[in-house]
Amino acid sequence: MHGSGEQDPFNLLQILIGIQQSSHYIPEEAIQHLAESLGLSRTFILGVIEFYSFLHRSHRGDYEVLFSDNITDQMQGSRLLAERLASRLSVKIGQTRDDQRVSIDYTSCTGMSDQGPAALVNGRTVIGLTPERIDQIAALVEQAVPLAEWPADLFLVHDRVERRDLVLSADYTPGAALRRHQTEGTAVILDQLSQAGLRGCGGAGFNTAQKWQICADTTAAEHYVVCNADEGEPGTFKDRYLLQAEADRLCEGMTLCAAVIGARQGFIYLRGEYRYLLEPLQRTLQQRREQGLLGPNILGQEGFDFDIHIHLGAGAYICGEESALIESLEGRRGIPRIRPPFPVTRGYRDMPTVVNNVETFINAAMITQHGAEWFCSVGTAKSPGTKLLSISGDCDQPGIYEFPFGTSINDILAACGAHHTQAVQIGGAAGRLIAPNEFDRVLAFEDHATGGSFMVFNQGRELLNAIDNFTRFFRHESCGFCTPCRVGTSMLTKQMKKVMVGHATIRDLDELSTLGNLMQQTSQCGLGHTAANPILDGLEKFPGIFQARLRSTSFEPAFDLDASLEEARNLTGRNDPGAHVKGGGV
Ligand code: SF4
Repeated sequence: MHGSGEQDPFNLLQILIGIQQSSHYIPEEAIQHLAESLGLSRTFILGVIEFYSFLHRSHRGDYEVLFSDNITDQMQGSRLLAERLASRLSVKIGQTRDDQRVSIDYTSCTGMSDQGPAALVNGRTVIGLTPERIDQIAALVEQAVPLAEWPADLFLVHDRVERRDLVLSADYTPGAALRRHQTEGTAVILDQLSQAGLRGCGGAGFNTAQKWQICADTTAAEHYVVCNADEGEPGTFKDRYLLQAEADRLCEGMTLCAAVIGARQGFIYLRGEYRYLLEPLQRTLQQRREQGLLGPNILGQEGFDFDIHIHLGAGAYICGEESALIESLEGRRGIPRIRPPFPVTRGYRDMPTVVNNVETFINAAMITQHGAEWFCSVGTAKSPGTKLLSISGDCDQPGIYEFPFGTSINDILAACGAHHTQAVQIGGAAGRLIAPNEFDRVLAFEDHATGGSFMVFNQGRELLNAIDNFTRFFRHESCGFCTPCRVGTSMLTKQMKKVMVGHATIRDLDELSTLGNLMQQTSQCGLGHTAANPILDGLEKFPGIFQARLRSTSFEPAFDLDASLEEARNLTGRNDPGAHVKGGGV
């Protein structure tokens, strides 16, 4: 947690998270008090509370259960389990029970796709849900057992690293990269990173040495280092492992960056869903302070002062976008900034800021310790090194895999035990849907770049369910700032619903395509640019799955009253023959 305490408006989000945690909601008196003590308007604070899905102004129950609603959780039966819990506890999904004991709802992917179905109970991760576990949870809730006294195995997260390659199997010595910087200087470090061809591992792939150089060259009173540990892309969970098992390497990479750019303060922006990692991370930071690798005079070097603070997110996918993340770090709503200027010259507190993800900082530390040649010993000429993948879905061994760049999708599928694969979604909901005729393509910046999510769908799956799930995900996560994305994600969701229930015509597919292309061209940030990817890829590569659901393949009017009424007829059980519209469309 950071900021100069209760008086710092930048600390607003962290204070609100603390109140939510202790009171289960943000009471009106707390809002008034914060407005006065932080010098903020009440409206501003309300805007922040409403923006983050884990903050509420009303009590949602002593136990708030949020089921992860990623498509892989659904494939593992999450919907039925949520209904089972709702039935056991006599509460409707989306509501709070009258006695305020419990509420049940859905949330976006919680980063446990390899061991779902998963849920959050008052922010704590529960994995591997089964009917038996659901009944156990229902009993614990009814008996009002405090969360701290729940059986520990409910919260045990198993990080399965199924394949290690160059980086994860290499020796790591705490302080080695920093000592190299101390003896050989900034120019050598940047040269090594440049020769290694290190690029941002979050998906965008910006040259790391160049980013650090630009930041170092920008004159300012302060410089900042920020680690984006807000991995919210559906289906990704590799950072969860890195933050748990390789946190020291991450801190080494961040401190190295601080030495290069001249920063005294750094932040790890930790997604709210990974709150359980907060304490282990704080222990690592403390250990490094005791070892002289963090804090004042690092490695005994006068004036080399740097420390890292942890900032928690609160359930907003858009905060993974670097400028939105900085807004959130400053205690505001995570609305992407208009760029340029980019954070590297004007970021946190308007100062030059390097934002990189967990894997990038770790790679930077490891390259500095082992040398650029070592890193370039695997991978392709344009994409040296390796990539971590989070593999989930229809395969025998879901988990974390490290592959050299240049590995084909076919080889990845074979390694994780996937059979009869119909499609792969690479890069999460915002990524690309890959058909079997592309499985010989490779993982690389020059071919398929990815942040690391790799979801497998076998031939038994209704692929349209995945496309629909991703589309609804974007509607939920759009920050609402710009019209093409705010309205577009809503319209895509509505149109997809028509397809799903069999009311759509070929004209609706045409509209989906036009709308998707428009959003790609006119939205403000990456979320809007990519929100239609699943639909556009589906229409292009799997047209049959859409065609099979069409009510008509001719260009009929988009609104079909009779078809729309059909849902109401089914719900009420009434079907008056005189209340049908002749000929269907109106
Ligand atoms: Fe917000 Fe979407 Fe616009 Fe990005 S594209 S700024 S997420 S509304």
